Amino acid sequence: MEAYTFPLDRFGGPSRLSRLKTIADHGPTPCLYMDLDIVEAQYRRLRDAMPFAEIYYAIKANPAPQIVELLARLGSSFDIASRYELDLALSFDVDPARISYGNTIKKRTDIAYAYERGVRLYACDAEDDVRHVAEHAPGSRVFFRVFTQGTGSDWPLSRKFGAHPELILDMARFAAAHGLEPYGISFHVGSQQRDIGEWDDAIARTKMLFEELAADGIQLAMINIGGGFPASYLDPTHPVEVYAGEITRFLEDRFGASLPRIITEPGRYLVADAGVLVSEVILITKKARQNLYRWVYIDAGLFGGLIEAMGEAIKFPIYFEGDGPAEEIILAGPTCDSMDVLYETHKYPMPDMVTTGDRLYIFTTGAYTHSYSSVSFNGFPPLDMRMLPREATAMPRRESSSP
Ligand SMILES: *Cc1c(COP(=O)(O)O)cnc(C)c1O
Repeated sequence: MEAYTFPLDRFGGPSRLSRLKTIADHGPTPCLYMDLDIVEAQYRRLRDAMPFAEIYYAIKANPAPQIVELLARLGSSFDIASRYELDLALSFDVDPARISYGNTIKKRTDIAYAYERGVRLYACDAEDDVRHVAEHAPGSRVFFRVFTQGTGSDWPLSRKFGAHPELILDMARFAAAHGLEPYGISFHVGSQQRDIGEWDDAIARTKMLFEELAADGIQLAMINIGGGFPASYLDPTHPVEVYAGEITRFLEDRFGASLPRIITEPGRYLVADAGVLVSEVILITKKARQNLYRWVYIDAGLFGGLIEAMGEAIKFPIYFEGDGPAEEIILAGPTCDSMDVLYETHKYPMPDMVTTGDRLYIFTTGAYTHSYSSVSFNGFPPLDMRMLPREATAMPRRESSSP
């Protein structure tokens, strides 16, 4: 058997791990540790790579108040999915002019609630919803979500969202006729999108919609290029700078040098890399003497924050401490539900002397984990999440709040 190896350098190297362990070694498992320095660094990277684009953090990726507070202070705007995320953003004095109600599925009472609190920007992909916005948020700006296939992404957001371009033309005309301001087009190419060319298709469709509506006298002013920017899982991606460069080129190819207002809505990219889930081995066993693979049960599973391992869609980088020969294993969570298996087709390696009580480190778990973890399935509490102390040098300066 080959020796166990893990590309620790891709995930901050030994120094990041030892810094984490000085804190995590004294705490219980499972526990998600968030490093706000990394969130800040990711924010600055994207901002520098696409200085013309306004960043609206998609709060649903990780609604920790400390993250919302940090990003608000750095000058980010926010994409909200519900009135509760609106309240969270407003609790940090985010100007409602910097909030986009990006969920296309909204109760009328929630539209009214957002309007009362000053939100004037709404996403729609159904004429019914446009009507609701016209009634409960009169005069607001609306943008229309065009559907995408989600091809090339690890966590597609297709089918349920968006509408065919023909319907969007109708919706924009309907919005204009009902006192709203048809403001722009949005799309989401799928989360953890590894094929950058998907943005080009969506931008081409957007350009066509801009032109057709202009012929009707409706001048759109904004493109919302969604999320989909990459985090560092096992399957490699280009760095975000390459995404930004390519997307900029696609935009300029279609729209020329004077671009409309450009909005991005990163969720995963901003927070995933900042999280490490510390977990513990509960049990190791074989199901039959002649089985090739051992089952390794750990105290983190699909219901404890790792739901994106469902169907092995997202392959989290998992580091076991210890050397020695690598053994391929089947990894499963702790609950009494046979769905709670993390990885069986893709075999993760583990040093073969790992035993009960040993710890493992699941990297890139800062997005779509804590907020997805179940409340009390099998009695387990929701995933514990803690913020690592900030490195003094990285404390954010207060920045102007205009983009
Ligand atoms: C979830 C979501 C995002 C964030 O997507 P990521 O792939 O996590 O960056 C952005 N916009 C909308 C409308 C979303 O629903």
